[in-house]
Amino acid sequence: MKKNILTGIRPTGNLHLGHYFGAGQNWLKLQDDEQYDFHLEIADVQALTDHFDDPAMVRKNVYELATDLLSIGLNPKKVHLYIQSQIPEIAELTVFYSNLVTMARLYRNPTVKTEIKQKKELFGNEGESVTYGFVGYPVSQAADITAFDGELIPVGDDQLPLIEQCREIVRKFNSIYGVTLKEPEPLLSPTPRIKGLDGNDKMGKSLGNAIYLVDDEETIHKKVMNAITDPDKIKKDDPANPEICMVYYYHKLIKNPNLETVCEECKKGHRGCVQCKKELITKMNEFLEPIREKKKYYDTHPEEVKEILQEGTNHARGKAKETITKVKKAMQIDY
Ligand code: SF4
Repeated sequence: MKKNILTGIRPTGNLHLGHYFGAGQNWLKLQDDEQYDFHLEIADVQALTDHFDDPAMVRKNVYELATDLLSIGLNPKKVHLYIQSQIPEIAELTVFYSNLVTMARLYRNPTVKTEIKQKKELFGNEGESVTYGFVGYPVSQAADITAFDGELIPVGDDQLPLIEQCREIVRKFNSIYGVTLKEPEPLLSPTPRIKGLDGNDKMGKSLGNAIYLVDDEETIHKKVMNAITDPDKIKKDDPANPEICMVYYYHKLIKNPNLETVCEECKKGHRGCVQCKKELITKMNEFLEPIREKKKYYDTHPEEVKEILQEGTNHARGKAKETITKVKKAMQIDY
């Protein structure tokens, strides 16, 4: 029996290198691992918790994200790619699970806490910005996972509290209604958080430091030329410390075969930062080119993307229907 792996991603715009190295690369490995049945959810309902007033943007982002995911090499023959809102059983499960968790517990969830804090900083007033749907999204996430008997959940370390919340809901459900649901386990990605070229600990759209997989050569040039280097290196032949330089960090990340030379020359003062950045720009464009090519293909074949999503959604819905039948029977609401 294959183990069910489930992961989700919110459609918030194009994928960037943080997504690729933090999660995407791991997904590419997992799809080739025969011991797993891999489900990848485009979490549009979750995106609506933040953008309920802009459905057109969420819809556009769903297709944008689907083409990006296919462009990095996800193979629809190996991964079930589906849209969350098209599986009504997830919404049903969310309603049933909402009785199994208290508001106090949701507010204590560190991921929710952090996001509420960010909302307060942005909008100034929690009462006006934090909706019921937002506070309850860990419950909907538990429904996402259990709808497909998710056993292993690839996550970054910041997502661990959400998995724990799901495990608690499963345990409570099973203790009240009889053992019906599986408790998921987290599967930590080896490189969960990718730094920005500006030195920020995290690359993110809202932080304005993201390098998108669809960025063209000119954009890559501008972004890399503004990257943070060792601040003590003033002149071209000053020795420097590559370990505190974001340009070196990215040479490492994209696996520049010339990495050792970059490191040695930097330490000895035999390399200027402009030359080093130009080399990174070339390597990064080489790295991104196959992704850009595939993206061009899918952008000009939108019907193919829609078919892939439809097929993935049909498969996922079949599984979710099996789960909801079991759940309703356990809850004695299978009239
Ligand atoms: Fe960074 Fe390269 Fe400059 Fe060294 S030479 S500080 S690695 S950009």
